Amino acid sequence: MGVRPAPLGAIIKMWKLERNSVYVDQRITPTYYGRYYDDLGAITTNIRKAQLICLSIESQDPDHRIRLTVDYPESRNSFTPFLNMEVKINQDGSLDTRLFRKPQKKLLTLHASSHHPLSVKEHTAANMYDTADNVSSNTVNKQYSERMVDELLINNGYNNRVLQQIKDRRKRNRSYRKRRENRVLNTVTSLKIPFLSDKCTAKIKEAAKSLQIPIRVVTTPGKKLRDFLTSSRPRDKKKCSTNNCRTCLALGDKGQCTVQNVVYEVKCGYTECLQSGVGIYNGETYRPIGERFIEHYRSANNPTAKSYRDMPLAKHYNSHHPRPASIRDWN
Ligand SMILES: [Zn+2]
Ligand SMILES: [Zn+2]
Repeated sequence: MGVRPAPLGAIIKMWKLERNSVYVDQRITPTYYGRYYDDLGAITTNIRKAQLICLSIESQDPDHRIRLTVDYPESRNSFTPFLNMEVKINQDGSLDTRLFRKPQKKLLTLHASSHHPLSVKEHTAANMYDTADNVSSNTVNKQYSERMVDELLINNGYNNRVLQQIKDRRKRNRSYRKRRENRVLNTVTSLKIPFLSDKCTAKIKEAAKSLQIPIRVVTTPGKKLRDFLTSSRPRDKKKCSTNNCRTCLALGDKGQCTVQNVVYEVKCGYTECLQSGVGIYNGETYRPIGERFIEHYRSANNPTAKSYRDMPLAKHYNSHHPRPASIRDWN
């Protein structure tokens, strides 16, 4: 299942095998049959019948490569694994479910000391508790599943205090989510759609009304192809909003700092450099030139700073003018 088309391939392959076996074979029709990609689940009265289902499906494979293994509860009280949970059918027909992790799977997950942002680690842990909660059918099973997650996380460097914090936060979030959902249910939300025609808008309004969906339909002008491809005023000057913009001043025209995709030359203004022709830096940028120049100003004003000293202008100042200086001139 490692490559992208694999899950899709598995679905098609399995369906081809099923359509002539489990779906039509009268001898084996189970009370329930379902599949998630290549994991099958069925209800049968004994293990022999479960094996028959597998054999029937396998027999449809012309290459004889498909091999199914049966997980059948050992006793009336044992659970059977299916996907990420274990299932047990009770005497009264109700289901007991809880979290399942393959015993051969190593107790590894995102480690507490990994270099991921803290929020990622917290969310990963919180999601595990969410899953444990969602797949468990009652309080006892929930506790069992939660302990499994505890064990996994503790094995990966999380301590009890951190886990308690994560659990507390989940509880708070849950009540907050519930409150918010209730609030949303009680208010009318607006559905923003691009305007196509009055007829179209009317139809959507009608549909919402007949389905009793509490929304207010609002139309926006929407973007036309013309907006993407053309500019109605291409010769307009871009505006610079900075007072006394240094770059605009230097380039001799207000608004010039907004020009993008340019190749530029910066020259050191010291007479000795101008005469000897050193201290010239040629650069290019796809961003507005003003943005790039701000970086140059910073490195020139503080050339010895650790974060700037490898930048071109800082290098020049450090080697030719080793004292506080500022960029003087450029063309
Ligand atoms: Zn400017
Ligand atoms: Zn210089």
